Order: sequence, then structure tokens, then C-alpha cells
Amino acid sequence: MSGLQDLYQTVIIEESRERRGDGRYADGIWTGHSHQVNPTCGDEITLGVQVDADDRIESIGWQGDGCSISMASASLLTELMQGKTRTEALELIGEFRDIMRSRGQREPSVESFGDAVALGGVSRYVMRVKCAMLSWVALEDALHKSEH
Ligand code: ZN
Repeated sequence: MSGLQDLYQTVIIEESRERRGDGRYADGIWTGHSHQVNPTCGDEITLGVQVDADDRIESIGWQGDGCSISMASASLLTELMQGKTRTEALELIGEFRDIMRSRGQREPSVESFGDAVALGGVSRYVMRVKCAMLSWVALEDALHKSEH
């Protein structure tokens, strides 16, 4: 189990440097966007989503700053949600929220969450849950605003 934890730790560090989707916010034409802050940690994100005519996520872009968990989460989210329908994305966000609130009782599946399973362990640290959730809440809000 500790080998798996080390792997997840590595994924989080790498993704927090990679920051997929970061810097694309300013140039995007978004169907919805959202600004979210996590004052307890100082994390902040502005995220835009572009939903196409078939209700699929065509593009996600964001800008922000914060701890490595919040930035890794935004990067993993951007990767995971590309090409998903609005409904699929909202279901995944709901499932992720349930997992994050489970205090380590629920684990994300690789089938549903891909590399974002690396965030599963965060649910054991109540103080960090908002860090992991920040970009997901921003996408949820942006998707609701994208309703047509
Ligand atoms: Zn944080």
C-alpha cells in the first residue's frame, strides 16, 4: 500500500508542476466560467469551460495559484474532463465530492477517474479537502452557467 501512496504522491507533485489548462483562460471563448477561492489555504482559481453544440466539453482553461494539491487537482481535472458530456462531468463531480467527504472511507475508481485517483487519499485530511475540491466546484459552477 505504501508503494501506491508514493506513486500517488509523485503524480500530485508532477501534476502541480504540469498545471494542464493553466494559462489558457485569457485566450478562451467560454460558455461558462467561475471564480473560486479557498481562504483557509489561500488557493484561488478562475476557470472557463467551452461546451459545444452536442453538450460535450471541448475545452477547459484556468488561471490561479495555490498549494500543490489544488494545482494538481486542477491539472488532473482538465485532463479527465476533456471530451466528456456535461451530464457525465456533473456526475463525476458529484461522485468526487462524495469521495472527498468520506474521510477515507471511499476510494475513486481508475475506470471513472483515471490519473485523478491520485487525489483519493486527500479525503483522509479534512483540512485539505477544499484544496482538492476547488477546481471541481469551479467547473461545476461553470457547467451550470453553460446550460442552454
Ligand atoms: Zn490548498
